[in-house]
Order: sequence, then C-alpha cells, then structure tokens
Amino acid sequence: MNKSVKPIRPTAIKACLDEYVVGQERAKRILSVAAYNHYMRIINAESRSEGEEETEIGKSNVLLLGPTGCGKTYLIQTLARALHVPVAISDATTLTEAGYVGEDVENVLLRLIQAADYDIELAEHGIVYIDEIDKIARKGENMSITRDVSGEGVQQALLKILEGTVASVPPQGGRKHPQQEMIQINTANILFICGGAFDGIQRIVGEHKPRIGFGEGSTQDEVSYREVTPDDLVRYGLIPEFVGRLPVMAQLEYLSEDALVDILTKPRDALCRQYQRLFAVDRHDLRFEPEALREIARLAMKRNTGARGLRAVCEEVMLDIMYDAPDWKPSEIVITRECVTDGAAPKITKKPRTRKSPAA
Ligand code: ADP
Repeated sequence: MNKSVKPIRPTAIKACLDEYVVGQERAKRILSVAAYNHYMRIINAESRSEGEEETEIGKSNVLLLGPTGCGKTYLIQTLARALHVPVAISDATTLTEAGYVGEDVENVLLRLIQAADYDIELAEHGIVYIDEIDKIARKGENMSITRDVSGEGVQQALLKILEGTVASVPPQGGRKHPQQEMIQINTANILFICGGAFDGIQRIVGEHKPRIGFGEGSTQDEVSYREVTPDDLVRYGLIPEFVGRLPVMAQLEYLSEDALVDILTKPRDALCRQYQRLFAVDRHDLRFEPEALREIARLAMKRNTGARGLRAVCEEVMLDIMYDAPDWKPSEIVITRECVTDGAAPKITKKPRTRKSPAA
C-alpha cells in the first residue's frame, strides 16, 4: 500500500466532520462513505498483482448540491483535515476552455500540487473541490455568449481530468506556454468533488414530477434538492458525460434558525468561541446571552446567505465593543439581546482583582 494512503473508517471520518459541521447528517454520511471507498479503491488497485483479473472499483467522485452558505466548502475543508490529504478549492467560474481569457482547467491541479507542497505523489491522492459548478452549465437565458460557448467547453475539459488522465500542468499556472517545463500528474486517484447551488433547479424537478403535498413546515424550495436526479442536472445544462463522472450525489439542507444558533457556539472553531479567545487575551470573560445568539441567527436568516450571514452580523454587533474593550480593566462582558437589536452597550462587570500569591 502506498505510504500516503491511510484508510480511515466512515464512522471516524463522520466523527471528525461532526466536530465542525452542524447538521447536514446525510451529506456527512455520504461523504464519509465516498471518501472511504475512494481510498479503498486505490488500495484495491495497488494490491492487485500483475495480470490478476479482479473487479475494479469505480471512482466515487461526488456532487454536492445545496444552497449558498450551508457548508459545502466547509465540509470539504474538514474532510481533507480528517483524511490528512491535501485539498484544493477552485471556482468553476474562473475556468475557461483553452483559447479563452481565464484560467485553464489544469490550474485546479496546480492548486492541489501547491497544497501538497509539490509532492506529486501526495497530490495524486488529494481532493479537488470545484465550487459553483452550476455556473458552467450550457445555455441559459441570462448567460453571456462567451460563457455559453466556454461553459460546455469547460465541462469537456474537466471531464478529462475527472476520468483520470496524465495531465500536464504549467508550474506557474495561467496559460500553457510551449517552452515551459510541465509538471505531470496522474488524476486517476484524485477525488473530485463538485458543488453548486443550482438556483432554479427546483423548477426543473417540479416540471416532470407531480408533487403530492409537502412535509410539515417545508416549502418546495426546501424539499426539492433531495429529489434532484441526474436527468435534472442534464436538463439544467450539465453534459451527460460530466454528470456520469459524478456518481455520488449529496444534498445539503437549508440551515434553520436553530442550526445557525448552534453554528455560533458548537463547532470547535465557532464564531463565539473565536471572540471569546480574542477577548481572553485582554483577560476579559466574554459571554453571549441565549437571546442575543437567537437574534444574531434571526438577522443572519434575513440575509439569505446561510451561515455566511452570521459573521457579518457578528462583526457589526462586536465592532464598537472590540474597539473599546482593550481600554477596560479585566471584566466580564455580556452581550445581550439589546446589543444586537439596538446597538446597546454590553453588560460589563469588573472582575475582582486577583491577589498575587505571596512569594514562597
Ligand atoms: P457553501 O455551501 O456556499 O460552500 P460555506 O461552506 O463556504 O458555504 O459556508 C460559509 C461559512 O459558514 C463556513 O466557512 C462556516 O464557517 C459556516 N458554515 C456554513 N455551514 C455550516 C455548517 N453546517 N456548520 C458549521 N458552519 C457552517
């Protein structure tokens, strides 16, 4: 077995994802299994002896579907951390097919090579995440001509690296240049994960599926990501071969207000914990009242950008406090609901001075 491939069981991968990512239970399970199978597939191929006829395990590239800010990118970052493999995150909207202005698709591989610190063998077992894959769908009423042409071209170009090929990557990125010395990288064992919000796909799903009532409290928008089929993706504008190369589909859910409250406090790197650490440097104890958290979540919900709205709301609430707090004596600082709704000052209680312990 290759030194860089260490299979980690799905339950262990999921446990690691749980430390950071709130909710998205099903997507976490699907990703954990896909990642495990991916590495088992590599091990299976490497342990096969010459000429031996054995079942080849198919590649489990993944498509993540879900609204903005629900944790797609964050899941991939956490997954890479759990697996101890390099990860490269790219945005499909910056990619173009050769000959157009923009980046060649090989640049996603260059990013992976850089994440692996130019250890090609390590990069060949890494993860590539391509965000906004829905934006390279072909056709579409409001897309420019250039995007129309290159959208399908980019899919074709990506298809090759998704299928597994030995790609030539220019070390400096950008455009290939004939005299440049190229880095060769085999993409057969790279796990490709694509993600997108696929705005409007609910309409496509609705067109060919008569709906028989919704679950309690849910709207069509909320339920239909789960019902998207590969055919719907083709109708949306992905080419069938491309969809075929992403056999595993994981749907992420819209985040509820409760989930946003949890995101503020529960993950290991939760925003509130980060503020607490920051304040602790000035020896302040920072606390958020539950109603304050609830209000922050409510305001973030209004922005319709999932958990992304949380940081912006928090920064607004915390700015003045962070401006003044370094001037204060060590205190207990409590962020109340009114701090969030009316920009009120926090409750501040000076901490009793701790006596220096007498010299021994
Ligand atoms: P997208 O689905 O658009 O890729 P991101 O993963 O970039 O969304 O989410 C933006 C940020 O919001 C993340 O960096 C993370 O801090 C937070 N976040 C989003 N979803 C979750 C979640 N389910 N659990 C914890 N944090 C989340």
